[in-house]
Amino acid sequence: MFLLEQRKFFFTTTVAAIILALGTTSTGNADYPKFLKFPKFHNQPLFGGRVKNVILFIGDGMGDSEITIARNYSVGAAGRLTIDTLPFTGEYTTYSLQEKNPKLPDYVTDSAASGTGWATGNKTSNGRISTTAGTDKDLKTILELAKERGYKTGDVTTAELTDATPAVLLSHVSDRSCQGPQDTANCPQDKKSAGGPGSIAEQSIDHNVDVLLGGGKQRYSQTIDGGQFAGKSVIDAAKAQGYQIVTNAAQLQAAQPASRLLGLFSPGNMSLEWGGQPAIPYPGSGPQRCLENQRPADEPSLAEMTSKAISLLEQKADRGGFFLQVEGASIDKRDHAGNPCEQIGETVALDRAVKVALEYAKQHPDTLIIVTADHAHTSQIIPPPTATDHSPGKYSTLITADQAEMTVNYATNLPDNSQEHTGTQVRIAAHGPQGANVVGVLDQTDLFHIIARAIGAE
Ligand code: MG
Ligand code: ZN
Repeated sequence: MFLLEQRKFFFTTTVAAIILALGTTSTGNADYPKFLKFPKFHNQPLFGGRVKNVILFIGDGMGDSEITIARNYSVGAAGRLTIDTLPFTGEYTTYSLQEKNPKLPDYVTDSAASGTGWATGNKTSNGRISTTAGTDKDLKTILELAKERGYKTGDVTTAELTDATPAVLLSHVSDRSCQGPQDTANCPQDKKSAGGPGSIAEQSIDHNVDVLLGGGKQRYSQTIDGGQFAGKSVIDAAKAQGYQIVTNAAQLQAAQPASRLLGLFSPGNMSLEWGGQPAIPYPGSGPQRCLENQRPADEPSLAEMTSKAISLLEQKADRGGFFLQVEGASIDKRDHAGNPCEQIGETVALDRAVKVALEYAKQHPDTLIIVTADHAHTSQIIPPPTATDHSPGKYSTLITADQAEMTVNYATNLPDNSQEHTGTQVRIAAHGPQGANVVGVLDQTDLFHIIARAIGAE
């Protein structure tokens, strides 16, 4: 069903992109009819062109609202973030499926089902990691396809490496909670001792991904319960399979491309970039400016991890290409918590990582960069609350880069509970060859096909 829709979508987006580009002025290009005059910059994105490398950025929970809040705060309402400067922008729908009746949509996805959508081209039910709704069959991922075609691969996150977003690329389990070999209560059939592929941590190593960077040391320290490495920790199994292990920023900087690299920079999620007062019910917290530079110096930033991953993958790939996923994970986590400064700091950190990739693409124009989110989230910019007119949720007022007050509201759940994901469409943007394929209103599963096409798998 999605394949057929896919053909239609490539056609319509290409036509749409041509119509858009007709309005632009340029120096022209001999390869295309005279009446189609494009700036040289747009030729490849519009008409295809060879993609050597793909860098995919996922802002977890980074809906349009989260982007706007970060923009207003950090560069002002009329300013532009780096992610705003990508030349092609579309939107995609993110709904998942119901486990008991996969013919029906679940309008609010989680990161596991949405990740399965973009990583495999198939929708599934919430909580599943690259397995089918209802039937628990493995779904082939874009990272697996890239590996088969000789690409070097990398998976980078500020969450645990076994968290849902990085996990959908390199593992297949029935439940996202099965992060380490001792965390398999919800997926007994996947345990190595039961003849399964093991937890997400074990599968991440067994997939021989070239560069793995993030948090989650607590999962990799657990003991494997079956198979070749029974009785060893996942870290020791990784070493036996040719991984170099690094655990701080200095070690990451020194890492060489000779071996595969596993970076585990914290026991759980990596530290946050910024701090600030959490949102509270009326009259709310603030007005406040956020506390920047809160991350401990021995933990690398997302931009530093991105830079090192690109450098290692490029050296390893030699004349071949690479596929790299980079996740800004805690935009979502701090949106759940209702803390606007922490949420904005993580959004800005992802924006800085995208800048690293765009700088790389200047020197390597055969790089396709895609920036998107997995689902939308809670935070909303609302009018200042008054005693008679205010949201029943919680809020904080921030002093933005405009030197103006911005009220950020969290009200998708009771103030003391974890705030919820929301079901609206989210932005997808691209830069580089074949980038025009993101234009229009797509579905999350289309992202899989865009990348599969870019790496020659479709
Ligand atoms: Mg995530
Ligand atoms: Zn979430």
